[in-house]
Amino acid sequence: MKPGAPDVYEEMVADRRYAGHGVRELRIVRTGSVQDRPRDEVEIAMAVGVLAGGSPVLSSRWDKNPLTLGHYELPRLVRLVEIGCADASHRILFEGTSEDAYALYGDPVEAALDRIIGGDAYRPGTDCGRCDAVAGCPAVPSVPGLLGIGRSDAHRRSWSVTTGRSYRRCPARAHLEDLLLPRDTAAEDSEAVVRGKAVHAWIESLHRRIPQRPCTPDDVPGPPEEWQYKKWSVTGLQARLGIQMIADHALVCPLRDRPEDAEVHPEETAAAYDPDANVVVLAKTDLLYRKNDRWFVRETKTARVPDEGNLLDQHPQLALAVLLAHTKVLPGNGHCRVELERLTGSGPVVTELDVTAADVVSEAQRVLAEYVTPWHADTRYPAKAGQACADCPFTRWCPDAADGNGG
Ligand SMILES: [Zn+2]
Repeated sequence: MKPGAPDVYEEMVADRRYAGHGVRELRIVRTGSVQDRPRDEVEIAMAVGVLAGGSPVLSSRWDKNPLTLGHYELPRLVRLVEIGCADASHRILFEGTSEDAYALYGDPVEAALDRIIGGDAYRPGTDCGRCDAVAGCPAVPSVPGLLGIGRSDAHRRSWSVTTGRSYRRCPARAHLEDLLLPRDTAAEDSEAVVRGKAVHAWIESLHRRIPQRPCTPDDVPGPPEEWQYKKWSVTGLQARLGIQMIADHALVCPLRDRPEDAEVHPEETAAAYDPDANVVVLAKTDLLYRKNDRWFVRETKTARVPDEGNLLDQHPQLALAVLLAHTKVLPGNGHCRVELERLTGSGPVVTELDVTAADVVSEAQRVLAEYVTPWHADTRYPAKAGQACADCPFTRWCPDAADGNGG
């Protein structure tokens, strides 16, 4: 395109195309099942609008020039189908005349397109591991040596504490996660794990309230013997313990005494690129916040009985937060404070880690190296078939999965 020429936007839908006898059909291939998959009305309206009025693309879609279009008769009937590869399920998302399709393509679609075109927000996440532009991305700072791995020719991958944990349980599982294969429903969580997730999600929802306000001891779910939040329901001892933990949180809530201009970012993803290891490191923080000119990151953990062992060994995400704060990936210019909030059966405890102390940083490096080094050096990802298969959502894809686990 000539310099100074106006931007040209082209709208295209792509997947399996079929046409004939006045009918145009697009089949969208999904990697999982389409049974019970939520409908995305904007996606459907956008697709059928283009199907009804668009022309077939003859040129390469990756070409930098405007698309070359063929001329075909406009259809009288448009059909949009999605196919689930995991179980051969299929569903007709739309079937109707071109007029019906145009009628669907209205304001919500235009608003969605405006957001895409005008969107200047970066959204670091798992896709960064496959992105060619990551080394120059303003949202993903480059930190050579972050993971303590010498220069390597390995292909680019992303790593998070979840990857590290999965790899420890079974290298194959970490690899299958990295391939983004569809998951089967995993085995049920224990009651304590469900309670932990429910408490976590409830506190997150309190921190997302607008206008922002600190949590109070009354901001608890109920009734005390049985409550549910999102998909997690708890009863009896775990229900009462969960309410106690949430009420306790109010005593140490980071939004207490906050100044007018405090910034609060629940569940913020921090990303960094280590060019030596060729790895994009991702960290989902529980809460990133600023009071006056000080930044803090807080991880919240729940346990009925707190473990008094080494905190960094127990919580590798804390070790990662220390390194990300120390290397200025987190805001605060190397002084972002890392806090651990433990909600226990005997009350709340908040511990702050000093990211400017050399021994804290070297301890964090040691903890992370134990997770990262074997993963990074592995090129085969052998399965540890057996116990690890019991709660693995990928046994269907794994030739080594232990019998009786859906493999
Ligand atoms: Zn709070």
